[in-house]
Amino acid sequence: MINPQILKVAIPAVPFFQLFEYLAPENGDNLQAGIRLEVPFGKTSKVAFLLAISSESDFPIEKLKPITRVIDDAPLLAEIDLKLLHWVASYYHHPIGEVMSAAFPVALRQGKEAVIKKLPKSPETEIKTTQLICNEGQQNAIDAVTASLDEFKVFLLDGVTGSGKTEVYMQLIQTVLNRGQQVLVLVPEITLTPQLQQRFQARFSTHIAISHSKITDLQRKNAWLLMQSGACSLLLGTRSALFTPLPNIGLIILDEEHDSSFKQQEGFRFSARDVAVMRGKLANVPVVLGSATPSLESLYNVFLERYQHLPLPERAGNALPPLVQILDIRQQKLQAGLSERLITEIRAVLEKNEQVLLFLNRRGFAPTLICHGCGWVARCVHCDANLVIHRHKNLLRCHHCGTEHRLISRCPSCQSSELASLGQGTERLEFALSEIFSNKTILRLDYDSTQKKGALEDFLTQIHAGEVDIILGTQMLAKGHHFPNVTLVAILDVDSGLFSTDFHSGEKLAQLIVQVSGRAGREQKRGKVLLQTHQPNHPLLNELLREGYAKFAQSELLAREAAMLPPFSYQALLRAHAEKEETPQQFLESVAELARNLNVQNVEILGSIPAPMARRAGQYRFQLLFQHSNRAALQQLLKQLVPQISMLKLANKVRWSIDVDPVDLY
Ligand code: ADP
Ligand code: ZN
Ligand code: ZN
Repeated sequence: MINPQILKVAIPAVPFFQLFEYLAPENGDNLQAGIRLEVPFGKTSKVAFLLAISSESDFPIEKLKPITRVIDDAPLLAEIDLKLLHWVASYYHHPIGEVMSAAFPVALRQGKEAVIKKLPKSPETEIKTTQLICNEGQQNAIDAVTASLDEFKVFLLDGVTGSGKTEVYMQLIQTVLNRGQQVLVLVPEITLTPQLQQRFQARFSTHIAISHSKITDLQRKNAWLLMQSGACSLLLGTRSALFTPLPNIGLIILDEEHDSSFKQQEGFRFSARDVAVMRGKLANVPVVLGSATPSLESLYNVFLERYQHLPLPERAGNALPPLVQILDIRQQKLQAGLSERLITEIRAVLEKNEQVLLFLNRRGFAPTLICHGCGWVARCVHCDANLVIHRHKNLLRCHHCGTEHRLISRCPSCQSSELASLGQGTERLEFALSEIFSNKTILRLDYDSTQKKGALEDFLTQIHAGEVDIILGTQMLAKGHHFPNVTLVAILDVDSGLFSTDFHSGEKLAQLIVQVSGRAGREQKRGKVLLQTHQPNHPLLNELLREGYAKFAQSELLAREAAMLPPFSYQALLRAHAEKEETPQQFLESVAELARNLNVQNVEILGSIPAPMARRAGQYRFQLLFQHSNRAALQQLLKQLVPQISMLKLANKVRWSIDVDPVDLY
């Protein structure tokens, strides 16, 4: 046989950086990149994605095995999709097989037939809402994006909460749908999909495909195929929807672009925001990033004129901005973290039959169980962490490894029964509120209370129907929700955000305060926001309240520049963990040495140092940080370094991962 066809494939979930090679079947002349194959792999067979066809192999041809069968007649991925996935694998230094896994719904990864089992019902023809008459800011934004529909350009829609960003999205979507093109809309959290879906459904007479991790495999596969085949034009989803093939893509919208949920924090650690921008570039279509509190990266890109700034400085309609005040709680009596002044304010609002929203970013009853007799503290045996008290479930639970114990009533160390719950969690706050406001309806919205399928949707419906007086919850509440009857919002523990060691923490706290504030008084009634703090003179709080988010962001950027931190430099974090303490430490030290020997100029290598939580789930954790003022130089270093890491002696004694552009240094 002369010039046999060599098929280069990626195999899902195989942590291998190279492609695997197989022989094409004899009648395989019309095979194309982008189809799925079944290939022999060890003693089993696996589904593989065909990425390239070549006449040459790095291996002796007689060692290559033929594939088992061809699964698809036509490619599932177009050339442009493959290009994006290759770029992503190389930028994040992640095995191509795992990147491919992320791009496909489970059912297709398993080799199931790529046909749509259930076609959507024909869309309702009745459209319930019509376009609003835009204000000047909205119209400018719409005009700017509309003028660039045939080119790649990134827009930052920088609009205060309630400024009508969603209206801008909807008018743009309508224009792109009218051109017969597809639109991808990404939100950071599953909880934000239902309300946007509703608003879209009321506006567009087209089917809306939904894709996120809480729908069934079958639904996900259907949504994927509807978009991939071009049968559907509008896709709404979370970061996992980003890689859905869109043959007629015309626009990408990413709402709440500052949100760190767009960054996947484990496994394949990609930033959906940054990849969305690259996708827009490859597809030559505009990308609209929207937020009331844009990330410092995006603001810096505006400054560099890489992104076009589209400001919406005012709330749409007649809604007034909320009144934000600092509530000094030094020396104040606190009841489950509530000051008397706050309790009085809550009472006044409830008397007017309006709603209150309280924000406390700690779930459970209390974060610490301590013995009053001897000082013993309930710690997790596997982690450097306290066990959190969960009263409802009668448990002590580790929020880092999931370890659970029954809640105890006697100290295991001195047998004293005087065990105290230190600190406040949402459960405790709920309990205290139900005592203070015994005739009011209180709803707790956190990870624990929303585990049941449909629970969150039910809660949101109850809030909107006015069946709830006080809503309390964690950061889940901070994002994008629209609660028209909420006129008082309070953040109970502002202080916890003021003293973190991560350089992102100031930015995150400011975003949180502004976002939570944005939940107040979004319609006719003016809202009030109270920030409980022991640090009433803290510069961050004062600058933010006096000058607003934009000014805050500007001075934070200056501080980052002075310290040469991102976005003025680029980082990659190498994490490693193992059972024995010295293994990850030594492993990362040899990686650091390898890196130094590569002689890349001006790279900073920090570590190896213990991770901020040095032990988790029984594993010792270390990290090594690379930083460079030039992105390409850092990439060059990683490109040479990563293949060598796997060859290190200790590489198979540790679990290691690389995080390019980390957003959380923990
Ligand atoms: P955002 O997405 O910026 O938070 P929304 O798009 O949800 O803001 O708009 C907030 C409220 O203002 C909604 O009730 C919306 O219907 C209303 N709204 C938006 N644009 C206008 C407009 N041009 N005129 C009147 N009301 C508007
Ligand atoms: Zn004790
Ligand atoms: Zn633990």
